[in-house]
Amino acid sequence: MCPHATEVVRRLQQEDFEAYIVGGSVRDLLLGKVPKDYDVATDATPEEVKTVFPRCRLIGRRFRLAHVRMGGTLIEVATFRGPQVSDDDDHKHKNGRILRDNVWGNLEEDAVRRDFTVNALFLDPVSGDIQDFVGGYKDLADRKLRLIGDARTRYREDPVRLLRAARFVAKLGMELGDETAKHVHDMAPLLVDIPPARLFEEVCKLFMTGHASRTLEALQRFQLTRVLFPVLDGKGKSGKAKTGPLMEVAMKNTDHRIAIDKPVTPAFLLAAILWHPVRERAEELHAQGMQEYQALEQAADEVMAKQVQRTAIPRRFSVVTRQIWTMQPRFNHTHGRRARSLMKERRFRAAYDFLLLRAEEDENLKSLCDHWTEAQKGVELNTGQNDRYKNKPQRRQGRRRRRRPTTKQT
Ligand code: ATP
Ligand code: MG
Repeated sequence: MCPHATEVVRRLQQEDFEAYIVGGSVRDLLLGKVPKDYDVATDATPEEVKTVFPRCRLIGRRFRLAHVRMGGTLIEVATFRGPQVSDDDDHKHKNGRILRDNVWGNLEEDAVRRDFTVNALFLDPVSGDIQDFVGGYKDLADRKLRLIGDARTRYREDPVRLLRAARFVAKLGMELGDETAKHVHDMAPLLVDIPPARLFEEVCKLFMTGHASRTLEALQRFQLTRVLFPVLDGKGKSGKAKTGPLMEVAMKNTDHRIAIDKPVTPAFLLAAILWHPVRERAEELHAQGMQEYQALEQAADEVMAKQVQRTAIPRRFSVVTRQIWTMQPRFNHTHGRRARSLMKERRFRAAYDFLLLRAEEDENLKSLCDHWTEAQKGVELNTGQNDRYKNKPQRRQGRRRRRRPTTKQT
């Protein structure tokens, strides 16, 4: 248990407020996992929280939250939320989607507006009591992931819950309850209406929190992959996508890197996920007479343009994804100036890792991979700096020689 979250709860309780640790942190603690962060729910309003923790930051415009720093840990303190006052258009979209969720409520109301029963447990870390209004404790023991209330209504209110279902099944090793499972397929098309920026955030959570392989399996099983990545091959608008070893190994590698605390970037993952459509389109354009490199650039642009309509891809990532793709043909120049300049590219390492991935599906690339693996060892021996120094005088000499005749003529 996090002593800092406990301290936040204790201080609120001392001022006669109700306060609990909630959501994913309670669920993970009960499963014996280490929660990645701690959320606290309270009946104190954000302004009241501020009186207890004067140095906290109030964030969010519509629904204000307090960010309390305690012993270097950030604890998010939210006021209990309640049901919407009415079903008017102000809060709900015509198809039932909740647009705003900004009404305060009491403990029980806060429990039932959460998504899954296992995410709606309230733990008082001071007394050790758990408040469970929705049967979450039993579901946790039975490893059942169940939406609270009527599954269709809850998916309609927020279709992102479909993706959260896949993510939790993968992360927690749970199975969906019958009702929760039954409506996944018919609700999947609703994801199309979710703002692309939110879907991008969800994609990051799906694939960059250490369970990418199992999440992809769950997305495939629930036939949600193609709603997220419509450019992938497959049947129907939603449905299973054609994946293959390249994508699967990319997911495994990502999970491994996270497990050993190495950084991961959505740029690389997206390069892997979207590679087949890019390659196929580039081949098509090449067959129509376009130069190989140009075909690849155009295919990259076309596929990206389609993908960002569904999940936004911030430019800082899409630029890198594109570089990873367009550097691939350059690996064919294994020697000379072109090879040396390739190795000096900022994205060389990512592009090389991507080449290794491609070799998972194409035996013929194995020897090319070996070449570049060896080539890098060579660079390590001839430290980068010396290598750069060696090249410079040569280039200057070349220029001078070419210039001399022109000077003489004038
Ligand atoms: P993790 O942080 O491990 O991904 P989590 O359950 O903490 O899982 P968060 O996205 O951090 O997930 O959300 C915190 C809590 O807020 C959830 O446990 C759930 O109770 C509630 N919640 C989050 N998203 C939704 C949603 N779309 N609909 C209803 N409740 C939600
Ligand atoms: Mg969380």
